[in-house]
Amino acid sequence: MTGKTGKTALVVLAHQEKASFNYAMKEAAISALKKKGWKVLESDLYAMKFNAVLSRGDITGKAKDPNHFKYGAETLQAWQEGRLAKDIVAEQKKVEQADLVIFQFPLYWFGMPALMKGWVERVLSMGFAYSFQTMYNEGPFKNKKALLSFTTGGSQPMTSPSGLNGDINIALWPMQNGILNFCGFQVLEPQISYAVAHVPPEARVQILKTWEKRLETIWDETPIKFLPIQDFSGMESGFTLKKEVEEALSESKYGPTVGQNLGKPLPPDNQVKSEVSQL
Ligand code: FAD
Repeated sequence: MTGKTGKTALVVLAHQEKASFNYAMKEAAISALKKKGWKVLESDLYAMKFNAVLSRGDITGKAKDPNHFKYGAETLQAWQEGRLAKDIVAEQKKVEQADLVIFQFPLYWFGMPALMKGWVERVLSMGFAYSFQTMYNEGPFKNKKALLSFTTGGSQPMTSPSGLNGDINIALWPMQNGILNFCGFQVLEPQISYAVAHVPPEARVQILKTWEKRLETIWDETPIKFLPIQDFSGMESGFTLKKEVEEALSESKYGPTVGQNLGKPLPPDNQVKSEVSQL
C-alpha cells in the first residue's frame, strides 16, 4: 500500500545514537514525508546491526569459482538466480519499492560512514543496481531520485574552495556521481547541515524546520546536472568525451562537471546546486 502521493521513500540512516542530530533529521524526514502522504520505509543501519562486510556469505549455494571468489561476478550470478543473502535481498526490496532514497549520515573522513558504505557495496550489487550496459543515466534506477543529507563538524566557510577542508563539491563527487548517478538515480541537491554541534540550539531547530519544509515539495525539485552517457564514446574508445562534445564545451570558462573538468576551473557549486551548472 502506498500513501496518498502514491510515492514511497526509503530513509537510510547511519548513526549510533538516538539523541543525535542525525537521528532527529531522520525522524523529521519521516514525519514530514508521511504528513504529505508518502509511504516511508526505513533502514536504521546501527539499530539493525547491518553487516557492512563483503564476504562469500553474501551468496547462498555453490560459488562459481570456490578457489577464487570474485565478488562482482559471484553476486551478479547469485542475483540472477535469486541466491543473494537474505539481508541483502531485504534491503534491495526496499530500494525497489522506493521512488526516493534519502541517505542520512554524519560526514566521516570526507565521506559516508563505513557502515553506510558497506550498505552501498552489498546492496547496490552488480545486475541489481548497475551493469556495464545500463549505467549512469541509463542505470536501473533512472526513474528514482536520491539525496544525501549529512551533518558536518566543519563550518561552511571551512568547506569552501578557500577553506581548510576544501571545496565540499569535491567530496560530493564520488558519492553523488560514483554511487548515485552511476546507478541511474536522479540526484537531488544535498541537504548539508554544517557544524551542527557548534551552532546555537535555535539554529538547529531552524535546520530541522527548513528540512521538513523542503521535503513537502521534494519530488518537484530539479536534479543536479551530470553529463549523459551519450556524450561519451564506447568502451572501445575508452569511454571518453566525444570529440564534438568536447569541442562544443571548449569555449566555456569552467569545466562541465567536477569530474569531467577538462583541466579547467571547477564549475562553482556543481554538486551542491542544480541550477548553476556551467554545462
Ligand atoms: P550530535 O553531536 O549528535 O548533535 C549535535 C547537537 O545537536 C547536540 O548538541 C545534540 O544534543 C543536538 N540535537 C540532537 N537532537 C536535536 C534536536 N531534535 N533538536 C535540536 N538539537 C538536537 N566532520 C567533517 O566536517 N569532516 C570530516 O571529514 C569528519 N570526519 C569525521 C570522522 C569521524 C570518525 C568522526 C567521529 C567525526 C567526523 N567529523 C567530520 C565530525 C562529524 O561529521 C560530526 O561530529 C557530526 O556530523 C555531528 O553530527 P551528530 O548527529 O553526530 O551530532
